[in-house]
Amino acid sequence: MNNFTLPGNAAAVIRRLNDHGYEAYAVGGCIRNFLLGIEPKDFDVTTSATPEEMKRVFGDFRVIETGIKYGTLTVISDGMPIEVTTYRIDGEYTDNRRPENVTFTTKLAEDLRRRDFTINAMAYNPAVGIVDIFGGRNDLQKGIVRAIGDPDRRFEEDGLRILRALRFASCYSLKIELKTAESIHRNRQLLENIAGERIAAELSRMLCGNCCDVLREFYDVISVFLPEFAECRGFEQRTKYHDRDVLEHIVATVAAIEPEPHLRLTMLLHDIGKPAYFTLGSDGVGHFKGHAKGSMAVAERFLKRLKYGNEISEKVMKLIETHDIPIENRKNLIKRYMNRYGDEMFLDMIKVHIADDMGKAPGCRGRIETYHAAEKTAREVLAEQECFSLKDLAVNGNDMKKIGLAGRDIGTALNTLLELVIDEKCENEKSALLERAKHLDLRNGDLQE
Ligand code: ATP
Ligand code: MG
Repeated sequence: MNNFTLPGNAAAVIRRLNDHGYEAYAVGGCIRNFLLGIEPKDFDVTTSATPEEMKRVFGDFRVIETGIKYGTLTVISDGMPIEVTTYRIDGEYTDNRRPENVTFTTKLAEDLRRRDFTINAMAYNPAVGIVDIFGGRNDLQKGIVRAIGDPDRRFEEDGLRILRALRFASCYSLKIELKTAESIHRNRQLLENIAGERIAAELSRMLCGNCCDVLREFYDVISVFLPEFAECRGFEQRTKYHDRDVLEHIVATVAAIEPEPHLRLTMLLHDIGKPAYFTLGSDGVGHFKGHAKGSMAVAERFLKRLKYGNEISEKVMKLIETHDIPIENRKNLIKRYMNRYGDEMFLDMIKVHIADDMGKAPGCRGRIETYHAAEKTAREVLAEQECFSLKDLAVNGNDMKKIGLAGRDIGTALNTLLELVIDEKCENEKSALLERAKHLDLRNGDLQE
């Protein structure tokens, strides 16, 4: 820990507290991340000063009363927020979630004991060095997540810790220690008491880590809020495309896509409706016709229950809906998709198609080259600013009015012209388009062939 240097603003906060006779340490995630060789993103400070004492000590700082009741004050130091929390002991947990009340204490050890995992319960300041009462450093070296104290009790106090353990294991490629893991399996139903959005936040982070082993080993935990996940386990697909059961396919596709929450969630959910849509042909071959719809129905319920926001939910739903549509490297088809779904969505669709193929049997990944080629084409279309939507068309509604069109005919004319441009049957050039428009046979918005 010798070369652990606190950033100036955190050091200033600790020094100020020390100068006033209080203990203060950087604590939790920042120490863990430093030992893992990861740049800490924020520095939390724990101190023997009470909130009232802190307010006096930081009288000349900007201070936000983040959670006075729980002892937390945010001190703005050098323009950066630092959360400073009084050493505390958590009171009775009545709802498996939050202590009824907290008691402030002057002993660092008591504050560290209330924390969830040994790797999260280390403290540091420049004068004392690292304080590691529960062997967090050793556990990090061994690569394990271990609950502090009796795991059953700790998970009963706060069920979210179950998912936090999975998140830390995934994000830092750690294993969950045996007793802690057994307790997680035993207590998984406690997650039912946890607010959807808190589960969603941990799940998204967990999925964006190295999550394959966690998804496999703790499929029963995931199934508490996504029951259909357990049904995928051991569900053989009986087609030549797949050499894995549905759960193993899902896990492989999650790992094969970049760690963005909406993409990882899409892969988690894209085939989740498969078991419900399985039919066995007379030839013994399995079919999952319409399963994208089945997955959408499951996904919609799941995203609502966990209170995922509209933006991410809409993306995930669209990506599930389209995960099976044919993508070829034909410029006109690609432009139609980009017009219909938007260019960013189309690029995501390609990523989903590639990841989906990566999860198939080795002999059935032949389309990946095509998908890469389609992506290249799409990027060329964007770079060349080629027209693929009405807004890029060289004529607009006013131009159509000027040549005498009205009502629904205007939209039909513009869309017909767009099709001609996309199919390279007409230049995206005003006079050429007007000429074509004049010769369209339109009646009440219908194009007469
Ligand atoms: P990151 O900031 O990367 O998510 P972190 O460990 O800092 O990781 P936070 O949620 O910011 O996680 O929490 C800060 C610290 O507070 C943790 O390191 C841990 O010591 C403690 N802590 C957070 N949540 C809980 C909890 N549910 N139960 C017990 N201790 C917790
Ligand atoms: Mg943190």
